[in-house]
Amino acid sequence: MEGHPWRLEEATLADIRWQPYEAAVLPFGATECHNLHLPYGTDTIEVSRIADGACEFAWRKGAKVALLPTVPYGADRNLLGFPMVINLDQRILDAIVEGTVESLEKHGVRKLVILNGHGGNEFAPCLRTLHGKTGVFVSLCDWWRMIDDKVREICANPDDHGGEMETSLMKLLAPELVRMERADHGAARNPRLKGLARGWIKMARPFHLMTDNCGSGNPELATAEKGKRLYEVAVERLGSYLVELCAAKMDASFPY
Ligand SMILES: [Zn+2]
Repeated sequence: MEGHPWRLEEATLADIRWQPYEAAVLPFGATECHNLHLPYGTDTIEVSRIADGACEFAWRKGAKVALLPTVPYGADRNLLGFPMVINLDQRILDAIVEGTVESLEKHGVRKLVILNGHGGNEFAPCLRTLHGKTGVFVSLCDWWRMIDDKVREICANPDDHGGEMETSLMKLLAPELVRMERADHGAARNPRLKGLARGWIKMARPFHLMTDNCGSGNPELATAEKGKRLYEVAVERLGSYLVELCAAKMDASFPY
C-alpha cells in the first residue's frame, strides 16, 4: 500500500475513480484557547490525528474508508469571552453534516461516522433528524467519551478542558506546540447556585467567568507516554468499529 489512500484530501480523481469507498469519517474540531500552554487548534489536531490513525488501522484490515477533511470550528459561543475564539452555532454544524450526507448518498457511500472532538458540539439531535430521511447510516463518536474508562485509569487528574488528558495527547501529537512553562493549574470556579455546582442542573458555561485562562483541569502530570496510551486505545476502538461497519451488509434489519 502506497501513501495514505484513506485521506481524501491527498487523493486525486485517478486514485479514487475505480475504487468506491464503503464508509466515510467526518471529524469536527474547534478553534479555541486551552489554558496558556496549548494552541487554538488543539481539538482539531487531536480529532484529525485520531481519525487518521483509525482510518489507517481499518484500511490495513481491508476496510475502504475515506477520511474527510476536518471541520476546524465548533459550537463555542460560551467561550467567546476569550479573544479570537471562533463560534459556529450548532445549526451550522448540523447543516455541514446534512450537506455531507446528501453528497455521500449521491456518490453511493451509505455509511458516515461523525467523529466529534469538541465537548460543546451536540450531534445526537441531528442524527435523529436525519434518521429515515436518508439512505446513509450516520453514527457518532465523541472520542473522549469512547475512551473514558482508560482516561480514568491512565490520568491522575480529571480533564475538562486543556487538562492532563488533552495535554498528554498534544505532547505526543504536536510536542513543538506545547508550552508547559506557561500553563496555569486549570482551576475552575464553582457556580454559586448549588444545583449547578453539583451538576444536577446544566447550563452553557461561560468560560471567561469560570476560569482565568480557559483551562479547566490540571495539566501538570501530563506526559507523552500517557498520550500514546490514550491515542492507541482511541485508534484501536474506533478503527475496529470502522472495520465492522465497512463489512456490515445494510440489509433490512441493519444494524441489528
Ligand atoms: Zn479541547
